[in-house]
Amino acid sequence: MNDILPPESAHWEWLEGKVRELMERYAYRNIRTPIVEPTALFVRGLGEVTDIVEKEMYSFEDRLNGEQLTLRPEATAGVVRAVAEHSLLYEGGKRLYYMGPMFRHERPQRGRYRQFHQIGAEALGFPGAEVDAELILLANALWRELDLKNVRLEINSLGQPAERKAHRAALIAYLEQHASILDEEARRRLHSNPLRILDTKNPAMQAMIEAAPRLIDFLGPESLAHFSAVKAILEANGVEWRVNPRLVRGMDYYNLTVFEFVTDQLGSQGTICGGGRYDYLIEQIGGKPAPAVGWALGVERVLELLKEQGNVVPSLVPDVYAIIPSSASLPLAVSTVEQLRMQGVKVQMHAAPAGADGMGSMKSQFKKADVSGALHALIFGDDELSRGMVTLKSLRDGVGAQSEKALAALADWAPHLQSNP
Ligand code: ATP
Ligand code: MG
Repeated sequence: MNDILPPESAHWEWLEGKVRELMERYAYRNIRTPIVEPTALFVRGLGEVTDIVEKEMYSFEDRLNGEQLTLRPEATAGVVRAVAEHSLLYEGGKRLYYMGPMFRHERPQRGRYRQFHQIGAEALGFPGAEVDAELILLANALWRELDLKNVRLEINSLGQPAERKAHRAALIAYLEQHASILDEEARRRLHSNPLRILDTKNPAMQAMIEAAPRLIDFLGPESLAHFSAVKAILEANGVEWRVNPRLVRGMDYYNLTVFEFVTDQLGSQGTICGGGRYDYLIEQIGGKPAPAVGWALGVERVLELLKEQGNVVPSLVPDVYAIIPSSASLPLAVSTVEQLRMQGVKVQMHAAPAGADGMGSMKSQFKKADVSGALHALIFGDDELSRGMVTLKSLRDGVGAQSEKALAALADWAPHLQSNP
């Protein structure tokens, strides 16, 4: 679990700002659900025989009432619970998005943390392929907004429960023939959740998995039509993809379309975003049946990829650093700084440093002004203040240029101090 500190936190805020703006363009609305949910929600929603439920959840008992609770390992189950609990689909479909921390007890490594952050989009109440495509286009638009390169789209269809049942029987028979290659986990899952074995990260099993019966060969005409409809819309929008018949995703709740955005620039943690359709989840957790589709991206991995590609995230710098040579000037200096802020100017006020006598030397104040990255220094010298003036000095372009400004005319000169008015 990591602390996210400045200046790095500015990258997070920048990304979140881009996401908010984009979600608004696609008419997705923000939803905020609790970090803690009943354990049963995830067991029922994600599936008992999944990596997350078997070994990754932070679960505990509420000391007051003995209830079993879990720090959310993902947010879809909670969103679906909230949608059902508040009858949000009463008047038709809903498009929602969220951002926030998730918790999984995994082995920490690059791109894999125990508290990590996801941004996700969910469209509930819509059965059509156009919404699957809309969500993929939305993610794609985000990569474009972030100027993220080297991200490819993999898609697959998991069909419907009856089709999976037929495939399952064939898969079990195949896996039984290769029992000697199966690792312990796969052997345990052979009869409880054989599809999950296809999601294994064990390199020794890859070749065998590659040749296993493919779910896509068991899909009926309706499932295939849905898949084709998604692909046709993607094609019309110039989106490239690769069908990956082994793509099954980590949770049991998916059906029909599943997809992942992957990169080869992040080592083995190369999936930056994953999602798909989950038409049976609402019913499974006790709500009125309704179709749904969504995705979640890993914020740490997206930021890491941006860094890897050398993308420059604008850093936060004040417009003005207020230099205050003597504490006697503080009341007037601070009230002037407040007026500037009310005008929209970003001002970092010099404050007396610990252990110094008074406000600190002019030299040390100018040093701090320089480190702050501010474009201008405003110097609240006693002498100027007594004449109703302050000194404005440029710290960046045309360094050193300086002029006196009248406090009484602040509204006239303040707007010129803003870098982004
Ligand atoms: P992986 O196969 O890498 O374990 P997953 O299938 O478990 O990923 P999802 O549950 O689909 O991942 O979550 C969506 C995204 O969240 C992932 O594509 C990834 O970018 C990110 N993510 C998942 N687990 C972690 C983690 N422990 N630390 C950081 N990011 C994560
Ligand atoms: Mg995982």
